[in-house]
Amino acid sequence: MTQAPRPGPPLWLLAELTYRCPLHCVFCFNPVDFAQRDSELGTEDWLRVLREGRALGAVQCGLSGGEPLLREDLETIVAEASRLGYYSNLLTSGVGLSTQRAAALKAAGLDHVQLSFQDSTREMNDFLSHTRTFDLKSRVARIIRDQGWPMVLNVVLHRMNIGHIERIIAMAHAMGAEYLELANTQYYSWALVNRAHLLPTHEQLRHAEEVTNAWRARLGERMRIFFVAPDYHEGRAKKCVNGWGSMFLTVAPDGTALPCHTARMLPGLEFPNVRAHGLREIWFDSEGFNRFRGTAWMQEPCASCAQREQDLGGCRCQAYLLAGDAAAADPACAKNPEHHRVQQAVRQAAERVPEHPLVFRDRANSRRLTPGA
Ligand code: SF4
Ligand code: SF4
Repeated sequence: MTQAPRPGPPLWLLAELTYRCPLHCVFCFNPVDFAQRDSELGTEDWLRVLREGRALGAVQCGLSGGEPLLREDLETIVAEASRLGYYSNLLTSGVGLSTQRAAALKAAGLDHVQLSFQDSTREMNDFLSHTRTFDLKSRVARIIRDQGWPMVLNVVLHRMNIGHIERIIAMAHAMGAEYLELANTQYYSWALVNRAHLLPTHEQLRHAEEVTNAWRARLGERMRIFFVAPDYHEGRAKKCVNGWGSMFLTVAPDGTALPCHTARMLPGLEFPNVRAHGLREIWFDSEGFNRFRGTAWMQEPCASCAQREQDLGGCRCQAYLLAGDAAAADPACAKNPEHHRVQQAVRQAAERVPEHPLVFRDRANSRRLTPGA
């Protein structure tokens, strides 16, 4: 196997400050075993991680969770990110963003807030998150606008809300959003547990894209709409995290450094912890970050495929989850012999009643699904 080329610096440092969250989203991207992972880095460790990331060349800093506003030191962390010259981005459910807290974060130098909604209707938003948060989120949207931050909304799409696409876009427009991210669900973590409930049909997706394009034509630059395409329906793999270890450096709440937030599930791979290693060493030299860099690790059909530089073989976690081999081609790709598993999941989701009720992301379910993890 030839050596992966030495990468450039990470552009994004994603600080997952905590897995704690007051919401219980059925598509949550946090690990299913989060209840076994209570350890969180302290303030000084996060400040050091920020300094090391900036010295390494990172320019964007995402502050996410769980719900990052649950960290009482968020203002301190934001202030250090600002002092270091990062463009900082808070990814939040909105719970905890009072007028006072928003003003404090603004004063600390926070550049950008991305607010998530689960749907355009109170009923579905509150059902999917298992909390009464729709009205609160609408108030938080006003607080964000009043602080002069760009209005950026995020809605995860799936079968239970994709039929509301017209209303979702209209809601974002009425709120004065400058950017709307419509992110089709990626089936890892809690979304994989609930996949039979969440996978939309081809027809639903086509309709959603048509409605999105009509709004784009109408609004032009006044509101930019990102439609993050799904991979299950297209027969094509997506370039996951823009390439393993090429742009994103994620630090999990306990300090584990990861090329993407779900990579820890992959067996046989060690990911270093920032408590014991510097970010420079982690980024350039660790086995975990080098394992799937570039194309040298590929096996067939990726190794000789004309697409290999474009999609880098797709997602390693999806390859492991669906094909049982993290070095396989992503089963979303029609060239993978395991692609029938993806097609079957789409077919079954349209035809069959799911085998179990929706599983909400909470500590009891986390313990039940990962006993003794
Ligand atoms: S997806 Fe929902 S439950 Fe998961 S961290 Fe975000 S707001 Fe919390
Ligand atoms: S075979 Fe591999 S490299 Fe080729 S398109 Fe499929 S996932 Fe991409």
